[in-house]
Amino acid sequence: MRGDLGSPILPEVVVAPSPKVLIVEDNPLNMKMFAALIASRGYGVLEARDGLTGLDLAREARPQLIIMDLDLPGISGLAATRALKSDHQTRDIPILLTTATAAAEHDREVRDCGYDAFLPKPISITSFLAMVDAFLALAGGEDQGSP
Ligand code: MN
Repeated sequence: MRGDLGSPILPEVVVAPSPKVLIVEDNPLNMKMFAALIASRGYGVLEARDGLTGLDLAREARPQLIIMDLDLPGISGLAATRALKSDHQTRDIPILLTTATAAAEHDREVRDCGYDAFLPKPISITSFLAMVDAFLALAGGEDQGSP
């Protein structure tokens, strides 16, 4: 219901929800570090500790970015990435694949799974945050960059 004509009109404030990042990672220390880094940028964090939970969360919550570990219990990060990239509802969500097996980047199966960026562990914090920021800017957060 509208207020009386005499009452002050409140400005309509539209608060854009902060972008959400889904972390799919079974190593508790890595999860803690990724979550802290992402939260430090003001982004929302969703956590999954296995591949199937990661798939479910990606479909339900539609994050703007997924940090995907390669070696996961249940279905692997490779299978989860393939599944997300072959589903039209989730294929546009960028996936940053991480693994301690740096050589995996050259593995043909890994190269073909559809990931958007690859970051070997131990990660460089600077590179990690730069990638996260870049993907979220592409997702529509670029207006936050203007002074
Ligand atoms: Mn793992």
